[in-house]
Amino acid sequence: MISASRPVGFCLVLSAPSGTGKTTIAQALLESDPHVKRSISMTTRASRTGEVDGEDYIFTTQSSFRTMVEEGGFLEWAQVHSDYYGTPSAPVKDTINSGGISLLVIDVQGGQSVKAIFPDAVLVFLVPPSMESLERRLNARGTDDESVIRKRLSQAETELGYLAEYTYGVVNEDDQQEKTVAKIQSIIAAEHCRVNRWET
Ligand code: 5GP
Repeated sequence: MISASRPVGFCLVLSAPSGTGKTTIAQALLESDPHVKRSISMTTRASRTGEVDGEDYIFTTQSSFRTMVEEGGFLEWAQVHSDYYGTPSAPVKDTINSGGISLLVIDVQGGQSVKAIFPDAVLVFLVPPSMESLERRLNARGTDDESVIRKRLSQAETELGYLAEYTYGVVNEDDQQEKTVAKIQSIIAAEHCRVNRWET
């Protein structure tokens, strides 16, 4: 007997070049849907002003990070710039097993690893409307100097090369965050309707 009454959980990966607005979009998604639970990554990078340990990231040392890698505690991990980032396995598995959506805001390398582990994961790439717009946003953010902005823009070109590996591409138009969130909500709704996600 087919039953759609009990939703089957899945991973929702959200990747985007720096400056595209993924943090804001992820936050709005979390607030709009109680089934979406954010996976909190562990990182060796220093916390930025306003970031809260255990909420934005779990900040840790290189040696604790290595221990966690050796113990197989990460679903995936990657070196981004000169720091390490990893997705702790247990919370993701718990969320999926209880029928929720585990939201992973991770880079393109992580997205590929998650796809290999969970072939039914949904990968959403948040795309800036144009490179000019991305440059404007990075400048307006005021957190990086000119050379860092150049580096981020060239990295964005590389990351955009992974778009074809993603399930969906959503353009985050300037000042249209609500529309972007609505599009991702529609993706979630459609994914729930996939018959191969229904419990049999
Ligand atoms: P930031 O230091 O700006 O917060 O993040 C830098 C990059 O690392 C972003 O692309 C972010 O999505 C990515 N990232 C954050 N957490 C993880 C993770 O657990 N795994 C991977 N592979 N990338 C991550």
